Amino acid sequence: MAPRWTWGMGAALAALAAAGVLAFVRPWMAVLPLGLFLAACAAAPFFPAWGFFGRTVTRGRDDPPGVALTFDDGPHPSTTGPLLDLLREREVRAAFFVVGRHAATHPDLIRRMVAEGHEVGNHSASHDVWLMLRRSRTVSREVRDGCQALAAAGVRTLAFRPPVGIVGPRLFPALRREGMFAVGFSRRARDFGNRRVTGLAERLLRGVRSGDIVLLHDAPVPGEDGPGRWLGEVRRVLDGLAARGLAIRPLSRHIDRPVLR
Ligand SMILES: [Zn+2]
Repeated sequence: MAPRWTWGMGAALAALAAAGVLAFVRPWMAVLPLGLFLAACAAAPFFPAWGFFGRTVTRGRDDPPGVALTFDDGPHPSTTGPLLDLLREREVRAAFFVVGRHAATHPDLIRRMVAEGHEVGNHSASHDVWLMLRRSRTVSREVRDGCQALAAAGVRTLAFRPPVGIVGPRLFPALRREGMFAVGFSRRARDFGNRRVTGLAERLLRGVRSGDIVLLHDAPVPGEDGPGRWLGEVRRVLDGLAARGLAIRPLSRHIDRPVLR
């Protein structure tokens, strides 16, 4: 079990403690650490790697050189099916963070992912982008219902990725109750959930480095030629990673912990 405490939490508590002490000695000086603490509270949901509310895995091992590929927001027949064909052809194993209600509609695709050696994580039941502002009960339900949709397809996962990658104070207690951990990412293509596909591979490869957890999407792509163009970009990503000497390894091996139960 990973430790509950993180550097982010330590820094936050230290700032609060400093503010508390200074409030007695030099009250005006307490403003600075207090201001830093409040600024960190406001920014922390967007920077899961800080570990301000709890630990999120955002990178993996960098030796030997390699990355893990993750695909969010599926499954969807127009994208996930052809993607699985491509990954099988290239002998690449990826991780899919799937939305519960899509998994419930296409359990066949979930079963195919696992049968072909991919890993599957929970990306919430309904992909509510405001989830981190909801009540604890709602956050817990979104985690649990996502797991249930996967269980119906025969998958029991340990990994959760919050919608739009934003974390919050209610997320980590909900994950602990389910015995799960949070997974973020360190490299993305700014594809806006596949609404911006042109130049995807180039944007992604520009700054990719060993150890990265790479975020892509297998959400539907707009336009008649959308899915084809998108698959071409994914192919270029695979080629580009190989050209840079970066292996693609399963997420569990990349982060040294199991993803599936
Ligand atoms: Zn998403």
